[in-house]
Amino acid sequence: MSGSSLQFDERDNVFAREDLKPGTPEYEEMYRRHPQWKACDDHIRSLPGLGAYVSAADMAMFNAPSWLMERIGAPDIVDGQPAPERVEITPERATMKVKSLARRLGSDLVGISLMNPAYAYSHRGRMIYPEEPWGEKITVGHRYAVSLGFREDLDLVRTGPYHGEMMETGLVYLRSAVTSVALAGYIRMLGYSARAHHFRNYQLLPVPLAVEAGLGELGRCGFLLTREFGNCLRLSTVTTDLPLICDRPVDIGVDDFCNRCKLCAEVCPSQAISKGGKVNVRGVMKWQIDPVKCLSYWNRVGTDCGVCIGSCPWTEPDNTFHRTAAKVASKSKWSRIFLLWIYPIIYGKYRPKTLPDWLNPRADTLFSGD
Ligand code: SF4
Ligand code: SF4
Repeated sequence: MSGSSLQFDERDNVFAREDLKPGTPEYEEMYRRHPQWKACDDHIRSLPGLGAYVSAADMAMFNAPSWLMERIGAPDIVDGQPAPERVEITPERATMKVKSLARRLGSDLVGISLMNPAYAYSHRGRMIYPEEPWGEKITVGHRYAVSLGFREDLDLVRTGPYHGEMMETGLVYLRSAVTSVALAGYIRMLGYSARAHHFRNYQLLPVPLAVEAGLGELGRCGFLLTREFGNCLRLSTVTTDLPLICDRPVDIGVDDFCNRCKLCAEVCPSQAISKGGKVNVRGVMKWQIDPVKCLSYWNRVGTDCGVCIGSCPWTEPDNTFHRTAAKVASKSKWSRIFLLWIYPIIYGKYRPKTLPDWLNPRADTLFSGD
């Protein structure tokens, strides 16, 4: 790892490593610094890859949102100069406006925290935009981070590891990107610096910031777990200097629940999720998935899987029964034990849902669940 020991270097991210082309200076430098990763990364690059077994008609439904997302991830779209005249506004009023606009733009959850510099990447790793070259040092100077959560369609996510899940992920990432770009643009129009961070162009880790902003807690599966939607959501972030009122982290009982549960680890088709305890990651104790095992599975079966989302007991339809169950689970250890006992009795083992009619079925079987 490079940079501050607390920061994550985007070059070390498995997606950034997957992008590296043999023979390029970036490839040579990466495996000079990390020779232990070369064999597994070469193996990942040799696999069929996302979309390999998805029909052209369906794959275009995934590629179209990705195409637009890439355009609105360009450095001059996610960032820009603030208006020369500042609008005078109290932090309370600004917070109300920012949260309301975010929701109007499509965000299901909004929270605000200080921008913890430990959660900024130390160096650029993706090679999407020439203006942001591989290895460039990253500095996020803003004081505040607005975390935005976007719910995914549970029926589509539960087709995972078939490609209905992948379609939904791409679409919701686009929504999260559009909202973050428009919200950052709004703040700059008020005369304050602001930058959008979304799937095509992050300078930071959105999950720990969302935890600090009170959207939920980090689960065993490596995703944010929220009381409202479980882990069935995607995130984007806006960082800014506009003075805002911060939210507080929440304790909804995820630590205790995930300690007892392990359902996602049992059904993960690549055994990427640990059944053990938390480990020390850059000075923080947390659950850590194995991203190489996870991405290898994606590239082997040609979809981004999502079984750990569809199988999580927190990820249930938004109805009175499940809202009550989540509320109760947040408050008492005994109710968590009871819910964990009864959940498999009611729902059984995870089984992917059938793809909807508007997607072409796959001929092979990806997941038996046994
Ligand atoms: S996406 Fe699939 S392979 Fe990756 S951790 Fe989740 S369940 Fe495992
Ligand atoms: S499936 Fe269970 S262990 Fe995994 S994230 Fe959800 S609650 Fe935690």
